Amino acid sequence: MPLSNNNKFRRWLLGPRAIFYGGFAIALVMVSLCALSLYQSRQDAMDRARETSRNVALIAERDIERNFELYSLSLQTVVAGLGNPKVMALPPDLRNQLLFDGATAAKNLGSMLVFDASGNIIIDAGNDTPRKGNFADRDYFKVHRDNPNAGLYVSAPFHSRLRNGSPSIALSRRVSNRDGSFAGIVLMAINLDYFHELFAGLSLGSHGAISLIASNGLMIMRQPYDPKVIGRDISKASTFRHFQSAPEGSFSDTSSIDGVRRLYYFRNFSALPLIIMVAEAEPDIYAAWRRRTVKIGTLMAVFALGFVALSFVLGTQLHRRMRAESELQLLARTDSLTGLNNRRTLGEILENEWRRAKRARSVFSLLFVDIDRFKAYNDTYGHQAGDDTLTAVARCIGENIRRPADTAARYGGEEFIVVLPDTSPDGATMIAEKIRLAISELAIEHSSSEHGRVTASIGSASWTPDQDADVRTVIKAADEALYNAKATGRNKVAVRHAVSPTAEYSAPAGKE
Ligand code: GH3
Ligand code: MG
Ligand code: MG
Repeated sequence: MPLSNNNKFRRWLLGPRAIFYGGFAIALVMVSLCALSLYQSRQDAMDRARETSRNVALIAERDIERNFELYSLSLQTVVAGLGNPKVMALPPDLRNQLLFDGATAAKNLGSMLVFDASGNIIIDAGNDTPRKGNFADRDYFKVHRDNPNAGLYVSAPFHSRLRNGSPSIALSRRVSNRDGSFAGIVLMAINLDYFHELFAGLSLGSHGAISLIASNGLMIMRQPYDPKVIGRDISKASTFRHFQSAPEGSFSDTSSIDGVRRLYYFRNFSALPLIIMVAEAEPDIYAAWRRRTVKIGTLMAVFALGFVALSFVLGTQLHRRMRAESELQLLARTDSLTGLNNRRTLGEILENEWRRAKRARSVFSLLFVDIDRFKAYNDTYGHQAGDDTLTAVARCIGENIRRPADTAARYGGEEFIVVLPDTSPDGATMIAEKIRLAISELAIEHSSSEHGRVTASIGSASWTPDQDADVRTVIKAADEALYNAKATGRNKVAVRHAVSPTAEYSAPAGKE
């Protein structure tokens, strides 16, 4: 009976393949979830790095802006003092004290100077007699000379001529005459050490960098510190174009110098022409994440592989057990010598087929096959030869029933029954004749048989829907037909046309 799709699916669900595929699917889901969570923690690492860069930049910006604001106020005080004749009339030491208000004592502050309109020092905060020098060539001088509204000017980095070439930048303001004409400038030089110290304490990983850049692209300070990059013009670099595109932002880029991919965060100062840039290398950002990923990933892979292997072993075990079970079932259903159905199975088949025939009202035929003079054969050729012959005869029977519903069984000893559902009496006789002929054509020598070879007699009986009978009467009718075949010379097919007690036998057929 063919299995319905539903039943097939249920059997598959409980089968070894389902266990293997199920285990594989669960392992896949676990690995996917793990990969997803690792991917998210990678994103988190990047977000955290962006946040850290932003905080570092913000704190540095605030420190620089606060200091510059104080410096700017000092410059304004000087400009105001210069316009006050009373102050200017004081002796140099008192005047300087009043003008510069002790600002020169501030750490990292270089010189505070006042230049006249030609760029010569006229007041020097640190000395009562000003040091000699002309600075008309410096950018900070030219800017104020040429532009009355330059305000607070932050200069490009330079090497100080008064302080042994120490790298500095200058903050400067214009000094104007009453009529607005250029009178000179007041300047405050700041040692770049200030920025160096400010940045040196910040930790940004082994490949990280923090830079302070003038809005025009000149590098003022960079950590890790390299004197060569101070004052370098980076306005043509691709990163610099990013800095100009927005007040603040972040982007990832691969460095053309060391090939390391970095996360850049930049901020344009709100009140000064400066840009601060914090760069963290991606290998540093992901270092902790990578270590964790390797650990968790390896564990997960081992676990998943173990899980798949376990499901495979379980699936294989189940497969073996199921096969053993079905083999046992088959063994219990078949006759070990001939491989045909055994008598117990014959009972089941008969019951099913008989019920179906009655329900469908279809013709039902049955053959009773018995080897002729088999006792004598055993006596002459031995029991082993008898067994071989039984097997050969069973094969003849099996080979001559073709339709799927046709079945043969060993009824006992050297007797076989062939069940032929939905087969007419003529059809059954034809099959019986084929079987008889096939056995005879085996040409197995049988000296004590009247036919000289191994032969069989077959009784055939059929039930048609117009009769009232049960399956036992059909078997009995076939047995009676067989008896008739035996009685009339053996090696022939005898047919019982109807299974009712009054029915007659047909003339024995198939004599060679
Ligand atoms: P008949 O032509 O009237 O059928 O004569 P017969 O000798 O075939 O019938 P009988 O029923 O007297 O003998 C059946 C013999 O079949 C008895 C036994 O020696 C033999 N036989 C039954 N089962 C087996 C078996 O499993 N193996 C072998 N080798 N012989 C068997
Ligand atoms: Mg017999
Ligand atoms: Mg016999």
